[in-house]
Amino acid sequence: MASEQMVHMSQGQGETSYARNSSFQKAEQNRMKSLIEAVIAELCGSRSTLLTGKIVIADLGCSSGPNALALVSTAINAIHSQCVHLQQPPPEVCVLLNDLPDNDFNTVVKSLVTLRQSKDPVVLTGVIPGSFYERLFTSDSLHLVCASNSLQWLSKAPEDLTRNHIPVFDTDEHVRRERFPLVREAYAHQFRNDFTLFLELRAKELVSGGRMVISLGAIDKAKFDSFYVPVHGPSGEEVREIIEEEGSFSIREMRAHDPTTEMNTALSTPRKFVNNLRALFEPIIVQHFGDIMDEFVRTAELHWSLDPDGSLQEERTRTSRAMLVVSLAKA
Ligand code: SAH
Repeated sequence: MASEQMVHMSQGQGETSYARNSSFQKAEQNRMKSLIEAVIAELCGSRSTLLTGKIVIADLGCSSGPNALALVSTAINAIHSQCVHLQQPPPEVCVLLNDLPDNDFNTVVKSLVTLRQSKDPVVLTGVIPGSFYERLFTSDSLHLVCASNSLQWLSKAPEDLTRNHIPVFDTDEHVRRERFPLVREAYAHQFRNDFTLFLELRAKELVSGGRMVISLGAIDKAKFDSFYVPVHGPSGEEVREIIEEEGSFSIREMRAHDPTTEMNTALSTPRKFVNNLRALFEPIIVQHFGDIMDEFVRTAELHWSLDPDGSLQEERTRTSRAMLVVSLAKA
């Protein structure tokens, strides 16, 4: 059964690694940039009393490769510009990167060294392996939490399905269609539980007035329903409702946008499309089905190559969805 123990992106720098197949997610991070800059301007602003000479920033679900440091680098650059602009000494910056223990932290740690070489502001760094569905940091210690493209990963496949041995994919198409509402509901339920827990935990760890900038909704689960992939792409309403119900955070800004443009470039050929799927899902596919990746790649490429303008385009249209970026403040 899929659970967070086996979730990690494909490691290393090879053709099918997450490092080389994450340009689509990169575009999402770029969209978060202005929100992170706005948060930093508030936190470091001359009227802010939040920082006492230091700022602690965490990225949750950082993965590896070029995207791992992107959000924290944005924050560091914004701190630098803000302090130059206000002619005030910069705070000491502590950057903490989190992901599950199987993440390729080797490459992450090496690139962290370059951040530490920055003299102004002084940057201290660390990695925090573990699940963001557990406590990761001491209470009242964080000022800014960022997470891009990671919160749609659930803590586990929906219990309502696994406990009752309800297969997501039934070879009988009729049964599969009939069951779809139940499956969707089970995923939404698991997401509600997980996201509420996430908010509760971060509310403990953030200082009062601390901020979060998160993005969600990158992956449509439908095409992976042949087994229990622990991913759920929530709607904007779903996210808003859970945040309001949990009650620790107010929503400062919520943006939804259509990722089709990035998809058209990043996933423009069957090979790129399949590599992207592989970078995201190879570890759990192999865990579930065994050593079938060559077969998977051949079949998937063939499927999308037969009619390059038709089926791949259709697949992208079918799976495209709004992406959400949310900026939150702790009361
Ligand atoms: N933030 C990067 C990576 C996104 S990929 C980017 O925007 O490109 C999603 C990452 O979330 C993966 O590295 C995965 O291992 C991590 N992840 C999934 N579930 C997690 C959990 N429960 N706790 C911590 N990290 C998790």
